[in-house]
Amino acid sequence: MRLRTSFGFVIVNYLALFAASMWAQDLGPHFRKIKEGIYVQSAREVNSNASIILTKEGVVIIDTGQTPIDSREVQEAVKKLTALPVRLVIDTEVHPDHTTGNFVFSPPAIVINHKGASEAMRAAADPNRLTSLSSQSPEMREAVQGYHLVTPHVEYQDKTTLYVGERTFELLHLRNVHSEADTAVWLPNERVLFAASVAIPNSINNIRPFVAIPDMLAAIKMLKSLNPEIVVPGHGSFGTTKIFDDSERYYALLLERVGALAREGKSLDQIKQELRMPEYKDWSYQERMPTNIEAAYRAVKRN
Ligand SMILES: [Zn+2]
Repeated sequence: MRLRTSFGFVIVNYLALFAASMWAQDLGPHFRKIKEGIYVQSAREVNSNASIILTKEGVVIIDTGQTPIDSREVQEAVKKLTALPVRLVIDTEVHPDHTTGNFVFSPPAIVINHKGASEAMRAAADPNRLTSLSSQSPEMREAVQGYHLVTPHVEYQDKTTLYVGERTFELLHLRNVHSEADTAVWLPNERVLFAASVAIPNSINNIRPFVAIPDMLAAIKMLKSLNPEIVVPGHGSFGTTKIFDDSERYYALLLERVGALAREGKSLDQIKQELRMPEYKDWSYQERMPTNIEAAYRAVKRN
């Protein structure tokens, strides 16, 4: 009896281990397990990340994929991981490469982002989105079935805390850092930070006119102060707070160079012509440099 029990126990354990390793592989090459029950889909280096967080009461998704093809891949991964429903989708920003796939999960999921997200998403909604996506490829036409704009059902202000199953999610608004509503998601118990798009590894960020570099630096400082073990940026590979350190160094150098040229009396157009950042020539999206110089110019002129 005793033997049979322990043998049965071994078998159960073995099956559990086998299932766990099978799951990790079966999710496909785009998924990485970063902690127990936490998976990140990073389809291509510069694409947006979508994350799956399992809890005893269901699934929380953070961003819904670069395209509906990626959203469907996340949906399939969730089905392999658990029979529980997707309870919540947290959007870390308003742009389509993070939010188009909301329709795949909602209903039944409740979508949440900071105040202003719904308004910004409706204002930017492209009425031809379904047609243009469908015409990209047969695979996309299939993935986009049922597409409609799903804006957040819940908009919080400044910060809020969600308790789902055994996990705690702290939602932190990042002001003026990337889109009209940017949310970082901090899991204090797991020490995992989903950092939105304030700092993208090895990439020049697209800085829109309402974004301010001093606000980006303040947000980065606040996120670093959480002392996360793992940082999952809105795009690109997950890593550590080095992602923040790299961005801080980049902006410090940019502000220094733009400031020096402005003090020499150079105009914004002249600075755009003259300024070089050879230290960052390997970063992606060099064509975004003019928006970075404009933002730095706004910042140095404000001081
Ligand atoms: Zn964006």
